[in-house]
Parts: sequence; structure tokens; C-alpha cells
Amino acid sequence: MAYIPSSARYQSMPYKRCGNSGLLLPAISLGLWQNFGDVDDFANATAMITHAFDLGITHFDLANNYGPSPGSAETNFGKILTNELAGYRDELIISSKAGYTMWEGPYGDWGSRKYLISSLDQSLKRMGLQYVDIFYSHRYDPNTPLEETMMALDQVVRQGKALYVGISNYGPAHTQRAIDILKQLGTPLLIHQPKYSMFERTPEKGLLDVLGQNGVGCIPFSPLAQGLLTNKYLKGIPEHSRATRSVSLKPEFITDEKIAKVQKLNELAVKRGQTLAQMALAWVLRDKRVTTVLIGASSTKQIDDCVACLQNLPFSDEELKYIEVILE
Ligand code: NDP
Repeated sequence: MAYIPSSARYQSMPYKRCGNSGLLLPAISLGLWQNFGDVDDFANATAMITHAFDLGITHFDLANNYGPSPGSAETNFGKILTNELAGYRDELIISSKAGYTMWEGPYGDWGSRKYLISSLDQSLKRMGLQYVDIFYSHRYDPNTPLEETMMALDQVVRQGKALYVGISNYGPAHTQRAIDILKQLGTPLLIHQPKYSMFERTPEKGLLDVLGQNGVGCIPFSPLAQGLLTNKYLKGIPEHSRATRSVSLKPEFITDEKIAKVQKLNELAVKRGQTLAQMALAWVLRDKRVTTVLIGASSTKQIDDCVACLQNLPFSDEELKYIEVILE
């Protein structure tokens, strides 16, 4: 049966202004890094996208290399756009990125103007789009002048291939320089995408300050530490988990010490009347400089669980202090 989006889709999701821009983003965004490639179940991928849209998730995050195979998440998303989501393009914020290895030879990696612009052209083709809403430099390139990378971002906006630009995985000093260069070029930096969770606190060492001071939005990725900050790994590594099928979450990272912390965090989440995933997302959203939290999922059930974090966002000072004690 043809998919018809829920008429209630805008009734409960809060939308927050992205930095000083005119763009509102949903409190929760969905990323297609894993579980949307051509090795994955396409029916499940379609169900997750349409279910997310029904819940008010309007922002879908992609990159040239998402799959596996690289590019296949964009191809699959393109199919969903032309089928289930046909007619809804103007209700969607779609992002893509270039910066990590995508094709062989000297032009398919890092931050040159050559790579960024040709990669975006490929992404648009794969998704069947005229433009993406946000195009990112996926990582800082120490061997390309930052001016060149930022001029490429400015150019794709001027060409109408992207509406806004972002950067990801840049440290605070490079972020400040990128902000300054883009300002001069007349294309303000919309958003930064850093890795941030209770287990990954690097953005607190200067990056969030730079973003807050400059009115740039923030969309933390891997807020659940790839699933560790959920009830999935409470008793070790379960079957059908990312740790058993992806090199991105290595079993050796899931130490007994980590599991012990996860168990204590889970006890606190239960006291707060929510799941650990919900508490982990609420914790990331507690910082006013965070615009939206970027989750991944392998089922519609997980998306439901994550979105329900919105029912209990505030933390008491005692809870926040206790979390620090657990994480020490
Ligand atoms: P998360 O930390 O949210 O991890 C997602 C995984 O956690 C899911 O695949 C699932 O694991 C598990 N999970 C999610 N919800 C639940 C739940 N409610 N209960 C139990 N388990 C749950 O984020 P990701 O690491 O997937 O990253 C999110 C997005 O961020 C990516 O899709 C991508 O768009 C972006 N990203 C950007 C990067 C960058 O360099 N800019 C790098 C990495 C990600 P399982 O599959 O085992 O069920």
C-alpha cells in the first residue's frame, strides 16, 4: 500500500533554530551511516525513514561514503525519496558530506575543491536531487589551505547545489578560522557535526564555546556511543548488534569497566523513569548550544525509544553530578 505520512507528524517534535540561522531542525535527526546500505534490508530501511518522518523527524543525514558499499545509502535514500517521500522534498532537510576516502586516485579524498565539488555532484545524482540542504566538509584537511575548502563550500551554495554549509570533526581553532573565512565569503557556517556523548567529551574542550559565541548550530553524532549507551550491552555483546558486524565498534572497546559504567548509568535512567538511550540523548540535548541530536538506528522500535526521550529532558544538579561520578 502506498505510504501516506501521518497527519500528526508535526504535533509533538520540537524544532530548534540552528545557531543564528533561519533554519529550524528537529530535536532528533536520523543518520544513515549504517543499516541503510546495499548489504542491509531495504524494506527495513524504508520503514525506518517513513516512521521517522511520521514522528516529525525532518532531518536525514548522509555522506558520500555511507553504505556499505560506499554511496549505497545515498542510492537507497534516493529510491525512498522518489517513491514513499515523493512530493515531500520541501518538508525535508537532507545533508551530505565529503572528506573521507570515496574513490581511487588523488581526487577522491580529503578537502580539495576538486574533490568536494565533484563528490557533491555524484551525491546529487545518487539521490536524484537538485540540491542538498546542508553540505559538509567531513574532516579538516591539513594539506589543503582552509580557504580552498571553504571556497568550495561557498561555491556550491552559489551554484544552488546546497542551501547551507557545515563542517564536521574540526577542532575549535580550525572551526573558528572556517567561521571567519566563510563569513568573509558571505556564506555563514550553519552547523558543526562533532562526536559527542557521555563517553566522548572532547567538544566541551573549546568547540562548544566557539559554536555558541559565533551563533553556529551543533549536531552531535554517535550520541549513544554507537549503541553502548543503551540497554543493549548491559550483559556483554549481544547477537545482532553493531559490535558483532561493524569495524566501527570494536569489541575490545567494550571493556568490563565500560559495561560497569553503563550498568550504573542504566540504574539512574530507570530511576528517572526512562531507558538508558533516552537518558543519553537527553544528556546531550541538555546543552543549549546543541541544536539537534543525530541518532542511528537498526529498527523502527529503536527510533520510537529514542524519540520518547523528549518526554523527560531536564536533569537535576544532583543527577548531573552523579553522572560525572559514574563517568570518572
Ligand atoms: P548512535 O550513537 O545513535 O548509535 C546508533 C546505534 O545504537 C544503532 O545502530 C543501534 O545499534 C543502537 N541503538 C539506537 N537506538 C537504540 C535504542 N533505543 N535501544 C538500543 N539500541 C539502540 O549513532 P551512530 O553512531 O549510528 O551515528 C549516528 C549518525 O551520525 C550516523 O548515521 C551519521 O549520520 C552520523 N555520523 C557522522 C560521523 C561524522 O564523521 N560526521 C561519524 C559517525 C556518524 P544496533 O545497530 O547494534 O542495533
